[in-house]
Amino acid sequence: MPANFPVAVKPAKRLRQSGIMPPLMADSAATNIMFSSLNLDPQILRAIEEEGYTEPTPIQAQAIPHVLAGRDLMAMAQTGTGKTAAFTLPLLQRLLPQANTSASPARHPIRALILAPTRELAIQVEKSVETYSKHVPLRSTVVFGGIDIKTQKPALMKGVEILVATPGRLLDHVESRNLMLNQVQILILDEADRMLDMGFMPDLKRILTLLPKQRQTLLFSATFSDDIKKLAHDFLANPITVEAERRNTAAETVTQSVLMVDHGNKFDVLADLIRARGLGSQVLVFTRTKLTAAQLARKLERVGIPSDAIHGDKTQQERINALDAFKANKITALVATDVAARGLDIDQLPLVVNYELPTNAEDYVHRIGRTGRAGASGEAISLVDGEEDRRLVEIEKLLKREFPRERAAVAHTPRAPSIHRPDRPAPHAFVKKSAPVDDWFMKPYEPSPAAAKNAEPLAVSPDKPKKQIAALLCRPPVKP
Ligand code: AMP
Repeated sequence: MPANFPVAVKPAKRLRQSGIMPPLMADSAATNIMFSSLNLDPQILRAIEEEGYTEPTPIQAQAIPHVLAGRDLMAMAQTGTGKTAAFTLPLLQRLLPQANTSASPARHPIRALILAPTRELAIQVEKSVETYSKHVPLRSTVVFGGIDIKTQKPALMKGVEILVATPGRLLDHVESRNLMLNQVQILILDEADRMLDMGFMPDLKRILTLLPKQRQTLLFSATFSDDIKKLAHDFLANPITVEAERRNTAAETVTQSVLMVDHGNKFDVLADLIRARGLGSQVLVFTRTKLTAAQLARKLERVGIPSDAIHGDKTQQERINALDAFKANKITALVATDVAARGLDIDQLPLVVNYELPTNAEDYVHRIGRTGRAGASGEAISLVDGEEDRRLVEIEKLLKREFPRERAAVAHTPRAPSIHRPDRPAPHAFVKKSAPVDDWFMKPYEPSPAAAKNAEPLAVSPDKPKKQIAALLCRPPVKP
């Protein structure tokens, strides 16, 4: 077992006691297991080796044998534990007998359906599927909302064995008759708890009616709430339960701390924290609302900290661009809401800051799970004001630990004149905690780059407008 991955612990007692889950059969599976002993095809092993994986993570070691044996599975695993490979590797193995290189779409029906709650997670999962399947003739694609449905049709029409989808967009494609689900053999619900939080239950139920009754179902969830147990009861048949981390346990590799800060000083404290580490050291900052995320990213920019935001109001392309810029280390801070950041896999992220504590205590665990991934050490700092004390207590109850309440030292954050944008609010403007109306109406006006360029003041005298226009359109002659 890789030394740095979260250690496998005993299975979910609560579920077995509740009678919903059968006795766990995988307790011993996570010790001293090598990929080579997991009965995976040499071409799948080759892809894993090329990724540099030497040994399975605990959730992989536990889940893979059961999935290969065709069992339904309920896995408690957070992002960062290697859960994507835990379901993808055995899925590929099970589909391998039907893999073929025929050009006929009929030879490539959808045989595995992976449902994910967010576009980002869906894209990430499909990338992993592509990586692990690169040496086997199985096709995959991803469909998600927020972009033109027509652009996704050609890949579906060619035929794919593995489809990764967000539930709403999948149903749109079903309605448009772009795909059929009647040959699905394996259904995977990834981050099932988040799908329920996001209100996907009606969509999930509808999707279920379109799938063959005879199939294998795997459910992955970071938490096992009562709703998840009910979902498992309705969707899974006699499942095995495996668990990578204790329920609601934050990764042991993450150092957590709390700084008590007056609400009005949070921004300065955050900017100081970032500066103290240097702009080369990246930070993921969480807010509760889309509006705060957008405003905070702009304020950070204005004080010279390269930043961007990802939240539900951004277009898919904007979100991808922001994430790519962050991954490529082009920006220091990425400000995100809980939904947008779910499932993000960002390598080597040293710091997560909770600018606002989440409404659901369980989201705290998800948030700080963005750092300390794949065994690296990480730090999570929560900036808590007096009004958030109740939320902090909820988090402490969930984690069964108390955080020392250290008071943050506040230094005034200087504004960086070079990035200052006079069309935007002052850096220390009041940040609204929640949006009373649609966030869209609260957004400051942002001119498009083209409009902004046109709006720039002209460098010639304003009382000669015609000459100004001519000067804009013509270059002065270059002297030889
Ligand atoms: P996941 O929990 O699926 O989001 O995976 C978290 C990270 O762990 C990803 O960057 C994977 O590439 C990586 N990973 C998955 N399995 C292994 C493994 N067996 N050894 C090393 N890294 C892994």
